[in-house]
Amino acid sequence: MSLNITVCIKPVPDPDYYDKITIDPVKKTITRAGIPTIINPVDKNAVEAALQVKEKLGGKVVVITMAPPNAEENLRELLAMGADEAVLLTDRAFAGADTLATSYALAAGLKKSGPFDLVFTGTESADGATSQVPAQLAEWLDIPHLWNVQEFEVEDHTLKAKMSMENGYINYLVQMPALLAVKRSINKPRYTTVMGVMKAKKKPLTVLTAADLDVEPERLGLQGSPTKAGDIFTPSLARKGQQLTGETEEIVEQLIQVLRGAGLNLESLNVNEAGRE
Ligand SMILES: Cc1cc2nc3c(=O)[nH]c(=O)nc-3n(C[C@H](O)[C@H](O)[C@H](O)COP(=O)(O)OP(=O)(O)OC[C@H]3O[C@@H](n4cnc5c(N)ncnc54)[C@H](O)[C@@H]3O)c2cc1C
Repeated sequence: MSLNITVCIKPVPDPDYYDKITIDPVKKTITRAGIPTIINPVDKNAVEAALQVKEKLGGKVVVITMAPPNAEENLRELLAMGADEAVLLTDRAFAGADTLATSYALAAGLKKSGPFDLVFTGTESADGATSQVPAQLAEWLDIPHLWNVQEFEVEDHTLKAKMSMENGYINYLVQMPALLAVKRSINKPRYTTVMGVMKAKKKPLTVLTAADLDVEPERLGLQGSPTKAGDIFTPSLARKGQQLTGETEEIVEQLIQVLRGAGLNLESLNVNEAGRE
């Protein structure tokens, strides 16, 4: 049995640069220019899961992302980790996409990049963190999907998968092709070797634009995004200092008045007028 496996990966801002990230007050989107990206951490677990299936059953692992052109570096890293091919969907037409438009473009990219028996994603991204893309993508592809997968096994063309719930888990039998969104505890992603980096240079990385995909343009990017961001503002972090003076009991009395003035219910804390329990 030889499987075609596709893994969706998302480049996310490098946490070392979080303090440099700003939000465009007009477009209400994150300004990412100049912010280096890393691979969304759980997406490396998804790639590891794919590589393990390939090693056991044979086949091919393709990694795909919809992202700006510099995501090529992230894809090369995954080719070095062991993926066979990479696909980068990049075009101004994809900019400003919400999860619906993202999953729509990704689905078109998956269909374009070849047949798939198994699709992996992470459970959520480190930046947007909606967890909506896996289910939406599976719906566009019209295949079954499971989220928060902590274990799975491939048998013939059936998946036995364990999905984590708040208070336990559910075992599923799923017919392939199917999509699994895996959680971080499913495995430990392998390290990249020097040999892997050398091999990655010769592996195919295909760049596709909107014109290469079988898509309806009005479903892409900002115009294809029904999500509308409301008001965005930076909360004021300014603090005001106030000095209380006098004898201890006077200070306590003043403090109680200040706290009451700020709306604190001192009775619920069991504090009486003298400020003692
Ligand atoms: C109005 C609006 C405008 C936006 N504009 C932009 C913008 O200009 N640029 C921008 O980067 N973001 C933009 N976003 C954010 C963007 O919608 C989300 O980052 C994106 O849809 C993925 O959602 P998420 O991060 O919640 O992923 P989740 O659903 O939490 O991700 C789960 C998994 O899905 C997969 N996945 C998610 N995204 C991708 C991807 N792009 N490629 C491959 N696999 C993926 C990964 O495996 C990931 O682990 C915008 C959002 C809104 C609402």
